[in-house]
Amino acid sequence: MSEVREERPTTHRGVRDTIESPVNSLQAQRGWMPARILDGTKIAAEIRAEVTAQAKALALSGVRPGLAVVLVGHNPASEVYVRGKVKSSEEVGLYSEQHTPAESATTEELLALVEGLNRRDEIDGILVQLPLPAHVDSKKILLAVDPAKDVDGFHPMNVGYLSTQRPGLVPCTPAGVMEILRRSQIPIAGQEAVVVGRSDIVGKPVAMLLLNQNATVTVCHSKTRDLPEVCRRADILVAAIGRAGMVTSDYVKPGATVIDVGINRITDQKEFDRFFRGDKKREETFLAKGSTLVGDVHPEVAEVAGAITPVPGGVGPLTIAMLMANTVKAAMLRRGTAVAELSRR
Ligand code: NDP
Repeated sequence: MSEVREERPTTHRGVRDTIESPVNSLQAQRGWMPARILDGTKIAAEIRAEVTAQAKALALSGVRPGLAVVLVGHNPASEVYVRGKVKSSEEVGLYSEQHTPAESATTEELLALVEGLNRRDEIDGILVQLPLPAHVDSKKILLAVDPAKDVDGFHPMNVGYLSTQRPGLVPCTPAGVMEILRRSQIPIAGQEAVVVGRSDIVGKPVAMLLLNQNATVTVCHSKTRDLPEVCRRADILVAAIGRAGMVTSDYVKPGATVIDVGINRITDQKEFDRFFRGDKKREETFLAKGSTLVGDVHPEVAEVAGAITPVPGGVGPLTIAMLMANTVKAAMLRRGTAVAELSRR
């Protein structure tokens, strides 16, 4: 034990834990091994390769899955996301098209556009990039998307399918979280899962997917009492909060799997030092670019967790990969192919 104490490195927060803590005993057992890194970039590449093969197989029967992306106005972040989605569609062999109505487009004009896409048989997936301009009734637009083409999985019909375990389209980021767990052989059934965040886009669907896979699920939010204590119950902890580095080591049971959905851009040197002091490689990028990304999980958690997704390179790459997978899934579901195999994803 004393040898371990001497070798104990300073944590990212500059704090030395006492040797009696569960963290230390686990790290002692591990010989100071850091958490296993769950490589989202690699998993996303596997999924894209599978989607490419599925698209080729569908092409043999004369079907080319098609994705239509609707981007209203000029939101620079949305433009970057949409470019990535269109490029990725081309790479995996899907047909894709972009619709770019002006910022001034009315709810009625956008409804007409969506209804036109609903009617076209060669379009299997419709994605309306959010946020829409403030004057547009976003809920009305999302409700107008044919649930069979709703590759974002946001339509109430797909939300219902998910909660009743029927075949349907599942939101991309939550589906990506499940792929990371599945492909990393992280057991889910019977495990305690804690999801921090209850948004319709991430938190709730992740919780439902984990429940459908027989985890015992707790969902936390801004009104949860004793959040660190609740999180420490988790064998699988999913953070989807939108607050840079909020989940620190004291939220994490030693050995737990930590999935960090958060993407937060930091530009402040003090904040950088709080998360990444001593990380030379990251500092070079930060100085060159003036910013870096941090998740909702503090990097120090890698010293306690058994497995963890990095930011960037964790959940992020899965989102577009799952959009591609959802477009192929929509093409198959619409044509009644392989429904049983795809339905539980
Ligand atoms: P939302 O803002 O919609 O939801 C955040 C959730 O976190 C809410 O449920 C909120 O609780 C909860 N929350 C906020 N502060 C606290 C707190 N102090 N303690 C406990 N809970 C808190 O965010 P999203 O779900 O859309 O996104 C979450 C994160 O995931 C963001 O960082 C976002 O950038 C990222 N993201 C990443 C994607 C990817 O591709 N990797 C895709 C989508 C999102 P309450 O409901 O009570 O307000």
